[in-house]
Amino acid sequence: MSSEPVSLDLDRRSFMKASALAGGLALGGGATGHALAQDGSGEPPDGALGDEGELVKSVCNYCSVGCGFKGERKGDAFIGMEPWFENPHNNGSLCSKGASIYGTEHSEKRLKHPMKLEGGEWTKISWNDAMEEITSEFDRIRQEFGPDSVMWMGSAHFSNEDAYAFRKLAALFGTTNVDHQARICHSTTVSGLANTWGYGAMTNTLNDYRNYDLLFIIGQNPAEAHPISMQHVLEGQKRGGKIINIDPRYTKTSAHADEFHRMRPGTDVALMMGIMRYLRDQGELDRDMLADRVQGWPDVEVELDQYDLDTVADITWISRESIEHLGDQFIEHKPNIQIEWAMGGTQHNNGTQNIRSYALTGLATSGIGRAGGGMQVMRGHANVQGATDLGPNSHILPGYYSVESPGSWAYWTDVWNQSPWTSGNVSFKELYDRYDVMSKRKYEESSGEATSTFAFEGNDIETRSMMFQKGITVARWYDAALPQEERQNNAELYQPSPLKAMLIQGHSANSISEMDKQKRAMENLDLLVIADIFPSVASVMHDREDGVILLPVASQYEHHGSLTNTHRSVQWRDPVRPPGHNSKTDMEIIQLLADGLGFGEHFDWGSGPELYNGRSTYENCLREINLGVRTIGYQQSPERLQQHKEYDWAFSTETLRADAPGTPVDGDYWMLPWPCWGDEHPGTPILWRDDTDPREGGFDFRARWGATAPTRQQWNELVASSEAPDRPDYPFAETVNRQGQAGLGMLRAPYTPDWNTGYNGRVEGVPQYPGFSTVWPEDITNPTAMSLPYRYAHDPTKSVFDTARALIRKANQGTLRPQGAASDINPQEYSQYDSKQPDPPTGRGKARAVAWNFLDVVPVHREPVESPRPDLVERWPANGQQTNFFRLDQDNAATQKTSTQAAQQQGMNTILTSGRQVEHQGGGSETRSNLFTADLQPHMYAEIHPDMA
Ligand code: SF4
Repeated sequence: MSSEPVSLDLDRRSFMKASALAGGLALGGGATGHALAQDGSGEPPDGALGDEGELVKSVCNYCSVGCGFKGERKGDAFIGMEPWFENPHNNGSLCSKGASIYGTEHSEKRLKHPMKLEGGEWTKISWNDAMEEITSEFDRIRQEFGPDSVMWMGSAHFSNEDAYAFRKLAALFGTTNVDHQARICHSTTVSGLANTWGYGAMTNTLNDYRNYDLLFIIGQNPAEAHPISMQHVLEGQKRGGKIINIDPRYTKTSAHADEFHRMRPGTDVALMMGIMRYLRDQGELDRDMLADRVQGWPDVEVELDQYDLDTVADITWISRESIEHLGDQFIEHKPNIQIEWAMGGTQHNNGTQNIRSYALTGLATSGIGRAGGGMQVMRGHANVQGATDLGPNSHILPGYYSVESPGSWAYWTDVWNQSPWTSGNVSFKELYDRYDVMSKRKYEESSGEATSTFAFEGNDIETRSMMFQKGITVARWYDAALPQEERQNNAELYQPSPLKAMLIQGHSANSISEMDKQKRAMENLDLLVIADIFPSVASVMHDREDGVILLPVASQYEHHGSLTNTHRSVQWRDPVRPPGHNSKTDMEIIQLLADGLGFGEHFDWGSGPELYNGRSTYENCLREINLGVRTIGYQQSPERLQQHKEYDWAFSTETLRADAPGTPVDGDYWMLPWPCWGDEHPGTPILWRDDTDPREGGFDFRARWGATAPTRQQWNELVASSEAPDRPDYPFAETVNRQGQAGLGMLRAPYTPDWNTGYNGRVEGVPQYPGFSTVWPEDITNPTAMSLPYRYAHDPTKSVFDTARALIRKANQGTLRPQGAASDINPQEYSQYDSKQPDPPTGRGKARAVAWNFLDVVPVHREPVESPRPDLVERWPANGQQTNFFRLDQDNAATQKTSTQAAQQQGMNTILTSGRQVEHQGGGSETRSNLFTADLQPHMYAEIHPDMA
């Protein structure tokens, strides 16, 4: 970072200069705004009395629908809200949460100054003192106990840039102990979907709800959780679509549905397998889809034999007749069937398999890769998708590059070293040296292999480096701060020392279970830092007297940046006003922490007075993201995103596409849903559409798992080397039995799509384009220009083989960026893939019916850990021991046994359902701090089954 001192505070003049304002509308009034915009000191903020009023296009930060609104500003005051009618997501509407933004912004309960708990008293401290104390204490802990003793807990309501910066901060500090809320809400979705077809995201758009024939809502209540999405849902119903709602509770969504079926919680797999079994028995599975685009289906069919409808009825508490009726509905309405879920589907010990069972049902009914079909994954917080893609995750680097691979680290070190938008330099070895190593005993016991050293990029690297170990998760962070005897199942901790300090930034502790353990864990820390817009539960749930610092964070309407909504659109947002009170933006806090910890030069995006809050800070950070995140097509330039706002009128609410010849946005989809492969790509509103040209967003399933699934011999070798899950039986026995070795093929067979009229008709199945996830454009200052693999993939005259050869040529000429990106490419391995055709860079593969890396390779019903049916636990137990699972042992089967026995001993045979009371944002702290939405919070309740009642 420049040694020149810079102003840390954005004054009004630079704020006005930095803001991208859409409008210039004169607004009347403003007295209320003046009063509300006061900073708590009794003084009106600078400029609040100015004459000009302006409207700023912003995006609601409560849920992942991403509704737009116009914030009214006068001077530096946020004085009101107006509808943004042209925004194609919401056409001007907001739900009660969105409409309350103004009240939240001006809430008296906002944290206004940095605070410190000393001798049981909260006292104000300056930002300088707070940052000095935090960074020196984190540094002391790093020296004394190692970098893994600090936990970095980030947020799904960060902007994309905040999320990315937070992940980078932890990486440069030297730990993978960094995580955020999506771990407990949708990590099972990501795992389930990504392991089926390559990407773990919502396949279709919110607007595409208008096109279903059947909407199957399971474990989600959009009428309350995502009210504006419900407008599209009801539009679909008005057009003749049918809604079936499956839930343990009768909700407001149930009231809108055409049918409601009450299920026992945690039995989704049994229900979906039962429906697929019924379809099979009726001869109604889509055999063409399963043969052409899915690998391993025969082994699913064998598993369906376990799910006769009487068994399914017994497990789910949905009658046999109702299951048959549901099956008939699938038959009547396929293929335009959408399956929608949220936390009701994901938050189970068997959550990943729930998601897999939905995905397989979608494949079996041909609902994937078409408008009106797909997997409608509804995220909670505004930026769950973006934060997961780019940010604080303990097992991946931005863009899903695994921390377990040294290659991932080398790649991201290159990005951070060469980024033209920061002044920092770092080599792989320098970064590696910041990480601790696991003890020999722990490493060998948990991995089943001897510790070793290997050569990597000219360095001797240890396999047991903590750099390559997944970090602790949000879900069980507390166990890492407790003594072993207090941890769940007395678990070992696979890192050198327990946690000693934690930063919780934008994350409320009450969204995590085990409150008592969290409380005790917080009390064990040397320092607890909480950065939030409101004092959150974590500020007060412990009984500490000292060692807590609270940092006031600016709202998301007080700085620039982008956020990715639930359907992958990357929306740009401008600030309605500068940071309120004595708060700072998340980005500025991250930059100050990096400065204090000695590596601020990697975070100096922006320049001059814009260094912290200015637009160029966020734009330059996004450009660095554009450069690095090549796996999922994050090549949406800030300029294009801002242009979309300017030409908002051009975009259709029906399709999200701009039909405006002569404008720069013509043909684009609103806010370029990822993958967007570069400046020439319109974005991808619907994943896996093989009826669309790839240059227009067309896709086949990602060819992520090579050309073939493991043969029996390869499987046996994997088992012998302990690389396969603990499952000696070959997972493709039935597939090979019915289809021979050809059934193991993971690439799609040739087919003839309508769009391919200009290129001899047929397209071939091909592997992923070499270098697509690692090669940059030639001019890295222009990171959204298409890289060579992207260009060649789209080019009808180029093939996968051509791409491999061209990359090697460039590498030999020394012009490939980053250097070494083609080091493991052998063109001869691609010689058989010489079909010259337009492709997605991710190749043309098949979906996996059998996810052979999972413990349950095909979905299996597993009784909930707390089950009221001990008889079912015996047949369908939870999965057992997992060693060093994100640095802690886990044994769901043992926990299930203990809790089931305890329930039995106490004569319990009743399920009491309760909704989570952390709806809304930040564990509810924002909405509870707002007079209007606090009133909307649901009351506590308990429900029992009517038969029992
Ligand atoms: S909370 Fe969600 S549905 Fe409501 S206005 Fe905000 S983004 Fe839209």
